[in-house]
Amino acid sequence: MPRIKHPPLFATLAAIACLTLLPAAAQAAEELVVYSARIEKLIKPLLDTYKKETGTSIKLLTGKEGPLLERLKAEGPRTPADVLITVDAGNLWQAGQSGLLAKIDSKTLTDNVPAHLRDPDGQWYGLSIRARTIVYNTKKVKPADLSTYEALGEAKWKGRLCLRSSKKVYNQSLVAMMIAELGETKTEEVVKSWVKNLATPPFSDDENLLDALAAGQCDVGIVNSYYVGRLQRSHPSAPVAIFWPNQGDRGVHVNVSGAGVTKHAKHRDAAVKFVEWLSSEKAQKLFADANLEFPVNPKVKPDPLVAAWGTFKQDTINVSEAGKLQAKAVMLMDRAGYK
Ligand code: FE
Repeated sequence: MPRIKHPPLFATLAAIACLTLLPAAAQAAEELVVYSARIEKLIKPLLDTYKKETGTSIKLLTGKEGPLLERLKAEGPRTPADVLITVDAGNLWQAGQSGLLAKIDSKTLTDNVPAHLRDPDGQWYGLSIRARTIVYNTKKVKPADLSTYEALGEAKWKGRLCLRSSKKVYNQSLVAMMIAELGETKTEEVVKSWVKNLATPPFSDDENLLDALAAGQCDVGIVNSYYVGRLQRSHPSAPVAIFWPNQGDRGVHVNVSGAGVTKHAKHRDAAVKFVEWLSSEKAQKLFADANLEFPVNPKVKPDPLVAAWGTFKQDTINVSEAGKLQAKAVMLMDRAGYK
């Protein structure tokens, strides 16, 4: 009788045999539940890598930050969520204030995440830096024409400035940080001067703003740098460039996407380990590069496309100020007529 070879079947059987021989503890691999306002496409590769490295499976629920926070609140102690990942320090701060997160004491995290990019109380930690900076149309503006966020209110920019809606948390955080450093009176003057210079009504998102800028509808604007990265990747010849403002004083406004462990986590130790891993060199590379952001871990270099924008001085005031002053910023923008 001829010998029939079934290598794949044999391999499978061998693998099963191996699995059943594993000690019980390794078989009962832990499962974590992550609620994420960072979209699935950006998070999934990290979860897959983590599972490969540690055997820990992660169930992911993604959604918009508002409804996600509401869900966490409504679920209370019954929540299955162990970790919350969201964008913008304003949102992280809200989660902390609402009692949804529990403090993490971790030397790994305080070593890997610079102090201004994490909650002073340890409830959440930034995992990527998002620079909200000035962009300009390279056919119409020279970098020497630009200097600071405040200078975008000068008369020479009349009818040339594009802004995104003040309803977006990114701009609320930007204005909140200006209040923290310039004070309310000065910030209101600046915002009013921006409104006077608008070329068009504010845009619903940064992508539309960049399209208008590339098309010459306006000459300067303020966006998160990763949107410029996406545009440069899809349309390398678009006449749009990044300018790093306020290099002579407070630096570029930076925000974070970040994570915290939920107050009612059922797998707290595993959740802390996962957040620590997200701050590690390997994970930081994946986390930042997926969206062309800057890693928070200073040991990790950004994607080459991002690195090509050059280094810059960033504002080192703690990003939690964006949350603390958010309500004031919203009222200020309303008074200034910024829609
Ligand atoms: Fe965004």
